[in-house]
Amino acid sequence: MASFHRSDLLAARQCPRRAWLHTHGVAMPAGSPSLGRADDRDAVRAAARARFPGGVVVPHDLVLEERVARTRELLADAAIPAVYDAVFVHGGVEVRAAILLRVEAGFLVVEARSANSVGEGHELDVTAVAWVAAQDGVPVVGCRLLHFDREYVRGEELDPHALLVEVEVEPRDFTASLARLLAAAAEGGEPQVAAGSHCRDPRPCPWIERCSTPEGRWSVRQLPRAGRLLHELAELGVEDVRFIPSDQRMNPSQQHAVWSIVNSAEYIGQGLRPALESVRYPIRFVDFEAAQPAVPRWPGTSPFTQLPTQWSMHIQASDGTVEHREFLHTEDSDPRRAFVESLVAAAGGDGSIVVYSGYEASTLRGLRDRLPEHWEDLEAIVHRVVDLLPIVRDHYYHPALRGSFSMKALLPAVCPELDYSDLALKNGEMAARAWLRMIGPNTPPAEREELRASLLAYCARDTLAMLAVRARLLTRAGG
Ligand code: SF4
Repeated sequence: MASFHRSDLLAARQCPRRAWLHTHGVAMPAGSPSLGRADDRDAVRAAARARFPGGVVVPHDLVLEERVARTRELLADAAIPAVYDAVFVHGGVEVRAAILLRVEAGFLVVEARSANSVGEGHELDVTAVAWVAAQDGVPVVGCRLLHFDREYVRGEELDPHALLVEVEVEPRDFTASLARLLAAAAEGGEPQVAAGSHCRDPRPCPWIERCSTPEGRWSVRQLPRAGRLLHELAELGVEDVRFIPSDQRMNPSQQHAVWSIVNSAEYIGQGLRPALESVRYPIRFVDFEAAQPAVPRWPGTSPFTQLPTQWSMHIQASDGTVEHREFLHTEDSDPRRAFVESLVAAAGGDGSIVVYSGYEASTLRGLRDRLPEHWEDLEAIVHRVVDLLPIVRDHYYHPALRGSFSMKALLPAVCPELDYSDLALKNGEMAARAWLRMIGPNTPPAEREELRASLLAYCARDTLAMLAVRARLLTRAGG
């Protein structure tokens, strides 16, 4: 009865090649942009339904024909004010409407988005559903999007009316997109559409690497922070770092990168060693992880409030001995106070606090404002912070960095024996999701324990990486 979904219809609207990839079962590339976190989706859906209460859900565990039939029954019952997860099919495309709201002249299609504002991509999502529903015979009279009010601060109870802002969206026509989708499904060979500006409109397409010309060894596209530089080089017709004019304006890290790529060697600036040595023992290598629940979970929090959930600290004494300390908030409660108290106790009163990025210092400043009783302790820690990232960016480059100074890029270049491949969690976004899952009331104890261990291992690797990178760079710089 249906072969396609809303995502296929929207893929066809963006690009014929994407439509072909969708309709020929080509697996999505690894690391494709996620469609949203499950915990977010559940919380946002609950808040939206609370705003339009009294609706009846079309059960998910029915086969498609039964869900369509159940939808029709519910729509025909004028006593039901709203239908949740209503299902429609047109032209082989199946869509699910989060909320179909009964109004005087017909129905409004309503969707909630886990965002503080909505854009073109969100509008296409809801209007595609509305279009399919209308083609399926529903008297759709309008579309609405709900997003968060970024100013909302939760009290003891969540107020879905204050949390969500309603936006009216103009209906759209997807006739051409459906025709393109059906044509792509019938097409034998993959259309050779080259990557271009359409690949980001309205959202980044996950197949960008497949459709882009591969970056060669000498490509200017691997230069760090090169947005404006790339435009200038494109105007000169320069795509190869070896042919960049000698009078081309570049910042120091771009100049170091060019030298490093052309010479196939790491660049070590004269300032690297003194900068790395400008720390005081005992050195505390510190990293934070945080979660940002979309729907405020605790009093005093807003949509996407950053909540620091754990820290790791490798402490290196002047005689080279190393000690490790850590903290992870494991309860379903606002973690900030326990985070601060444990950190202040472990930070001691002397020595440098070494971090890799400005995130830790800005988090400490935010906590200082939030918990004024710890103002002095946190202020003292902020004054001891030394950020390794600008030191590396200003004085070091390795061709393997390919323009990125993130620790995930730096570690394999500088300390290849110590990477993240053996860890269950590979980045901060995964850690944030894991933490929310760990504290969730329905997570089984065994899984909770597994997540706890994975979170501790991930954060500890970050601080061990900092310690190892500093030691290795000191050696390379002649220290
Ligand atoms: S990356 Fe661009 S060209 Fe390739 S399928 Fe996606 S939208 Fe089309």
